[in-house]
Amino acid sequence: MGDVARDTDRSCRRMSDLKDRLKRLIAAGGPISVSEYMAACLFDPEAGYYTTREPFGTQGDFTTAPEISQMYGELLAVWALAAWREMDRPVPFVLGEIGPGRGTLMADVLRTLNRLDPPFVILGRIAMIEASPRLADIQRDRLAAGKGKPTWFDRVDDLPKLPLILLGNEIFDALPFRQFVKTAHGWRERMVTLGDDGEFCFAAGMAGIEPSLLPPAADTVPAGTIFEVAPARDALMSTVAAHIAKHGGAALFADYGHIERAFGDTFQALRAHAPCDVFEHPGEADLTSHVDFAALATIARGHGLDVQTVTQGEFLVGMGLLERAGALGANADQGARDRLQADVDRLAGPDGMGNLFKIMVVTRAGMKLPPFARAD
Ligand code: SAH
Repeated sequence: MGDVARDTDRSCRRMSDLKDRLKRLIAAGGPISVSEYMAACLFDPEAGYYTTREPFGTQGDFTTAPEISQMYGELLAVWALAAWREMDRPVPFVLGEIGPGRGTLMADVLRTLNRLDPPFVILGRIAMIEASPRLADIQRDRLAAGKGKPTWFDRVDDLPKLPLILLGNEIFDALPFRQFVKTAHGWRERMVTLGDDGEFCFAAGMAGIEPSLLPPAADTVPAGTIFEVAPARDALMSTVAAHIAKHGGAALFADYGHIERAFGDTFQALRAHAPCDVFEHPGEADLTSHVDFAALATIARGHGLDVQTVTQGEFLVGMGLLERAGALGANADQGARDRLQADVDRLAGPDGMGNLFKIMVVTRAGMKLPPFARAD
């Protein structure tokens, strides 16, 4: 009890420290971009959300697809195996995951692959790319007893120059993004500054945006309209695409967002499974925005790769989610079958993650992968 109280004290101190530090930074140096604010809140070494907190699960702030059900990792394992076979089983090769959280997805993927095709796990170099040393330690513990001996990397750039099969679940939304707001003087970067009350607020800054980045309706949308761009996300996609173009491979990314470019303010904070104000709990709430899959697809295609983006519901059902749930439920009691049904609804149903979440698959040109095409 005493320890819990002390920990809470310490975490409150860190949070208010970060809030105070950011306020002092703005007071001294002027407004900061949404991107700088987000990067500090998520990755400040002392008080950042991912560096200090346990975000996942019922005790945390949000639940992700691999944490909902083992079926998610099982179906992604089937996809990864199809990719390896479609590439004619190159050896050596890398099976990587970027932003692995608690390591649950990779644990499920390796367990499944070890059953489906043991050489995959024996011959593959397992790579975990994680920015948070604290989460990397959790992943090490999670994977210590399983098949495959992963290696940890800070960046995609550091991966061995080999054919790559890469998975990423909710990684892009965790990377900082910038906002632009339409004003009477054109589009201006939306900044975080301090109001008369000394609290954070938004203000239009000086920087404009390169007009070719804006969707076609930019001239006609009303003042106050927001447009978001994410150079950090674009850079990650560019690095992955360049690797695949040069060394071969396929990547699968799952995230929430839109397939078409769109206007709108999607900056959001989540704490204890409920939305909260983006300024209220710096370092103590998850900050995200919707991923612009159209922008990422343009970058991958620019590297000569094939890109397909579908809803998570379409992808999982196409990969056999219903059949897998049926198989798991076949000899189970009614309670377990009800839970499986609830997991299916949550992962793939329209009221769950099925429509809002998208799966983007990026491959070297000409690869045929399920569920879009059956490998021959
Ligand atoms: N994939 C997990 C966790 C998603 S949360 C799941 O679905 O449950 C985002 C994860 O990405 C965290 O592990 C976070 O530390 C990591 N991350 C954020 N930015 C990163 C970066 N630039 N490189 C690698 N990992 C990053």
